[in-house]
Amino acid sequence: MDQATALVALSDKDLEITRATKRLEELPEKQAILDLRHKMRDIEALSAKAGTYVAQLEAVQRRIEDEIATVSAKIALEQTKVDSGAIGNHKELQSLSREIDSLARQKDKKENELLAQMEKLEAGKAQADKIAATVEKAKAKEAQLIAQFQKVGGDLQREIDTLMKQRVSLAKVLDAPLLERYESLRASKHGLGVGILKGSMCSACRIDLPSERVMALKDGGPIGECPSCHRMLVVHLGDRS
Ligand SMILES: [Zn+2]
Repeated sequence: MDQATALVALSDKDLEITRATKRLEELPEKQAILDLRHKMRDIEALSAKAGTYVAQLEAVQRRIEDEIATVSAKIALEQTKVDSGAIGNHKELQSLSREIDSLARQKDKKENELLAQMEKLEAGKAQADKIAATVEKAKAKEAQLIAQFQKVGGDLQREIDTLMKQRVSLAKVLDAPLLERYESLRASKHGLGVGILKGSMCSACRIDLPSERVMALKDGGPIGECPSCHRMLVVHLGDRS
């Protein structure tokens, strides 16, 4: 392969590599994963909040249960006194009986409170379970997206690897100074270092060159320079090297 042909082939190969790399970077699966992770952070924060809320409700419920137990113990104690028959004084018995009634009312009130609290806790737990299920669903979706990304991305990466190998073989054909010039132009000219003279136009910058410039280029070697964009300009493809 002559230098001009190899140069054009190398330039084409590099454009292909750039396109494939861009496709890899912009895979829709990648953006979908990022979007999902963003949403998951919100749901997980909500889930943590729901967990705290349930724990608070459980603490309140335990407190009410303790209070009920305390009142019950008091009632039992007073009742033992009444039942023992040791208190003969009628007034004292009456007062004790009123005390027991009052405690029983307290207990009733607490038990109603407990029921309301249990309902609240149940609703809170149901809400927390719902959020936890949403988190699980999002995690499953994330795993699925990652697998898809790895498959599509893996195919693209293998394609890029093959292109890179082909690029290395093409670069070997070029003389060192020519390759160096190509690389430096590619770096400074948005990834495109070579144009081809097509009629009187440079294929890289698409500028129509004046006829005397075209004549001069045609009289020169197979690889000249575009007077407009200053990229290398391949004038004769596939003849002299
Ligand atoms: Zn040009």
